[in-house]
Amino acid sequence: MQYMIGIDLGGTNIVCGLVNERYEMVDKVKRPTEAALGVDHVLDKMADMIDELFAKTGLDRSHLLAVGAGIPGFIDPERGVSIFASNLKWHDVDVAGRLSVKVGVPVFIDNDVRMYVYGEAMSGAGRGAGVVHGVTIGTGLAAATVVNGELYYGSGFMAGELGHVAIDGESTPCGCGLAGCLETVVSATGIVRQAKQALDAGRDSILRDSHERGELTAAHVSQAYDEGDALAVDILTYTGQVLGKGLAYSISLLSPDVIVIGGGGALAGDRLFQSVRETLQRSVYHGYLERLTIRQGELIDDGGVIGSAAFAKNRAEKLRHSTAGSAI
Ligand SMILES: [Zn+2]
Repeated sequence: MQYMIGIDLGGTNIVCGLVNERYEMVDKVKRPTEAALGVDHVLDKMADMIDELFAKTGLDRSHLLAVGAGIPGFIDPERGVSIFASNLKWHDVDVAGRLSVKVGVPVFIDNDVRMYVYGEAMSGAGRGAGVVHGVTIGTGLAAATVVNGELYYGSGFMAGELGHVAIDGESTPCGCGLAGCLETVVSATGIVRQAKQALDAGRDSILRDSHERGELTAAHVSQAYDEGDALAVDILTYTGQVLGKGLAYSISLLSPDVIVIGGGGALAGDRLFQSVRETLQRSVYHGYLERLTIRQGELIDDGGVIGSAAFAKNRAEKLRHSTAGSAI
């Protein structure tokens, strides 16, 4: 049995997991990122976490095939470079090169959303499907597509910025410089913003108390929906409609077998998906919908680690074949 390490690097925590060839998590550890202490501190910590996992499990380190890491922001997966990660304050960091020197095996990196969707495609809600389109709903919204076991990148590794399509009738400024982007509505942040705006405009709702205490979250909106609160129902219905319109473009372009919806926002489940499905019935050719299944992500917590490990296995095997080919 060979093993891979998958790393999910976030602005707050690093999760590092030891994963087997069947994409099962053998064990994992979690540590604070402490990005302010510098790139070397973060890379040394990753190397220490890998040592810790092999010490804990007693597995033979010579069976480690490769390391994969999912990193937020813009990534060049071919060069293994983090081009820009705003929450880590990283610019042009050669993560793959520097970490592989520390750990002694090849290291492969990609954007955290692509790694998550790759995990769902290989071992989660999209397993066995040919074309898997995945969307993560968190503080923002991003998408990625896996076609027959390979990620689709587009020109400049830019494919998947579905969160930054401008939506008619929306005008909230977005961090990308545009206004009215899909993620200003379809994200945990967007759901809370909609609730706050409606409450400030005088709308009646059981959400008012948590808003006035400054504690309003997207989870409160889901709870209020379950209690039949009209404002919460309106917000999640509208959010699902906007997501449905965005996905109508994805579906028409990609004809996916499965759409996986992940990230914290996916926990809203059918409160959101029902409205997505209704919008799609009105927005796309029925032939697509007959083939399509929309599923909540199965690997909400572990998808980034499993996906990074699966990606590392894919890349390491390709590297091995290309090296074997060039030696002949
Ligand atoms: Zn935007």
